[in-house]
Amino acid sequence: MSEVYDCIVIGAGIQGSCSAYHLAKNKQKTVLLEQFVLPHSRGSSHGQTRIIRKAYEEDFYANMMQESYELWAQLEKEAGVKLYRPTGLLVMGPENGEVFSKLKATMQRNNIPSVFLEKHEFSQHIPNLNLTDGNGALIDNVAGVLFADRALRAVQGVYLSNGGVIKDGEKVIDIQPGDIVTVTTESGVYRGKSLVITAGPWANKLLTNTGLELPLKVVKINVCYWKEKVPGTYSVGHRFPCFIQLEPKEGEYDIYGLPSNEYPGLMKVCYHMGSETEPDERDKQTDRGDIDILKRYVSRCLPGLIPVPAIVESCMYTVTPDHHFVLDCHPTHRNIVIGAGFSGHGFKFGPIVGKVLSQLAMGEVPSQDLSPFRIQRFKSHSRSHL
Ligand SMILES: Cc1cc2nc3c(=O)[nH]c(=O)nc-3n(C[C@H](O)[C@H](O)[C@H](O)COP(=O)(O)OP(=O)(O)OC[C@H]3O[C@@H](n4cnc5c(N)ncnc54)[C@H](O)[C@@H]3O)c2cc1C
Repeated sequence: MSEVYDCIVIGAGIQGSCSAYHLAKNKQKTVLLEQFVLPHSRGSSHGQTRIIRKAYEEDFYANMMQESYELWAQLEKEAGVKLYRPTGLLVMGPENGEVFSKLKATMQRNNIPSVFLEKHEFSQHIPNLNLTDGNGALIDNVAGVLFADRALRAVQGVYLSNGGVIKDGEKVIDIQPGDIVTVTTESGVYRGKSLVITAGPWANKLLTNTGLELPLKVVKINVCYWKEKVPGTYSVGHRFPCFIQLEPKEGEYDIYGLPSNEYPGLMKVCYHMGSETEPDERDKQTDRGDIDILKRYVSRCLPGLIPVPAIVESCMYTVTPDHHFVLDCHPTHRNIVIGAGFSGHGFKFGPIVGKVLSQLAMGEVPSQDLSPFRIQRFKSHSRSHL
């Protein structure tokens, strides 16, 4: 018989790695299982940068980000590396639209340090960006860039130094629920008192083994980098912030951008949605409709960029119907904890998501209100076969 772990975590993306980190810090004997050899670029957590912000429409995300910032700072100290660069975040959107108004009100209610830019002062603060007519603009002053690859390495490193075990290149092929959960990989069998499933785009594939199916849609994102006509125009050095353009046109999803970083002279500007894919067939999804939307936006609003992407990389979102996360125990097997459906905005929450998932796995009361993230909200969508 193999040894019994306190907890098994499946998936070494940011959410699984942060869960494992909190478990190990709480002296839980933990094993983190990953199907690919680490590091890899086939899920959702690779790449060098992600936006971190408190600017949200919902109070519950603004609250969670308060704790998440503290936990990122703690991880920086423990790992001895810088994981965050403050740049500010410019949010633009239809001034009288619901989303922009709600976001502005939530920021004010939660005392998030911010500046509201009047139309006449916009170009003075943000050169080389054209504000669309009828759009309002505000800046989240505490937002910035997270160094994603570095953060993933850092959290896995601190996890290992706290006695955690990582088994990469081990795809989980079966889960047997029970008081002791048995997890079988292509090369071993693991037993645990609890199990955390953080499998990103593969969540439903794994949940099938537990008789549960969530309403998750996996989409491929074309990660586009655009060349600056004059190198440095959109760099942190020139104090260019991250930005989010809400509802660029009616019926379109948001567009977001980060100052040039990973490729000097290139700025990352992406569409916040993509086309549906199977996670193992990501590269067969070749739809570029999102790139056409981006080209039009870049031509219209970012005159300092050449409106053809110089580099296009791939990533995936796992999207729920309401774009909110799933952070909950399995409805039938309470020692199985699920973190899924991060809907393209989960990285910044990694440390707090890991903390609450670890608390659920240890049978503790989570430090955050998880009611917006319950599986039950999908009642008519999710199928429990057991
Ligand atoms: C282009 C892009 C831009 C983004 N920008 C932002 C941003 O600016 N700010 C932000 O906060 N968030 C952002 N996000 C979202 C964020 O990156 C994701 O929400 C987050 O990375 C999800 O992490 P995860 O751990 O759930 O998934 P993943 O990183 O996909 O991890 C899941 C892991 O589980 C493993 N796995 C799956 N099945 C098995 C199995 N059977 N056996 C073993 N292992 C398995 C996978 O191989 C994978 O490593 C962005 C995402 C993308 C794609």
